Amino acid sequence: MDHATFHFYAELNDFLPRRQRHKPVDHAFNWRASIKDMIESLGIPHAEIQWLVVNQQGVDFSYIVQPHDRIEVYPFSVQPETAPLVALRPPWQGKPRFVLDTHLGRLAAYLRMMGFDTLYRNDYPDDELAQVSNEETRILLTRDVGLLKRSLVIYGYFVRQTNPRLRLLEIIRRFNLLDSMIPFRRCMKCNGVLEPVAKDDISHELPHETGSYYEVFHRCQSCGQIYWKGAHYQRMQDFITQVTSAD
Ligand SMILES: [Zn+2]
Repeated sequence: MDHATFHFYAELNDFLPRRQRHKPVDHAFNWRASIKDMIESLGIPHAEIQWLVVNQQGVDFSYIVQPHDRIEVYPFSVQPETAPLVALRPPWQGKPRFVLDTHLGRLAAYLRMMGFDTLYRNDYPDDELAQVSNEETRILLTRDVGLLKRSLVIYGYFVRQTNPRLRLLEIIRRFNLLDSMIPFRRCMKCNGVLEPVAKDDISHELPHETGSYYEVFHRCQSCGQIYWKGAHYQRMQDFITQVTSAD
């Protein structure tokens, strides 16, 4: 048997069995395999990996593991000291766009509320999630590790938190979204684009009190839903301000 040693940094340890976390993993092998396949066989999906360093040289996913290699595997949050590094995927261009797995409906609504183009259906099959993420260049958010191992998935992230608000905060931090939030841009229900609408044109569609308390309204261009900055919006704004200013 040949051996290689893997060092997994920071949040990549979340995917290892508890007893293997935060220490070198000695891996025995007797077959030819790429670094990507070997890392995924240890449990870490490629979509979570940002940099690979083998014997102090940057490599990409196609590198074939050799006996006695010392392999360092880095997530997004840790920058290796080695240079030069090899990019594992093209750098993200522009504002993040998302596609969310079926169990993340509340997170999808929150991301839309903050203005992010976010596809979500509660019946997306895994094949379609991977395909949409690939073809439309969207970041796939899921709690399904197997899905993040599919080669079609270029940009993906495993959602750690279970509470919906903490999930939103986790995604804001991971993808650095604070400066690109634009509330009242996307429909929370369908991801359609919102446009301002005159109060007079829609006053007959509003609950009586809403028409007298608020002046600014938006309408979804896809499904017709009307939005205003009511109590729900204010609670979410307060939450984000409170938590992000605590950093
Ligand atoms: Zn809509």
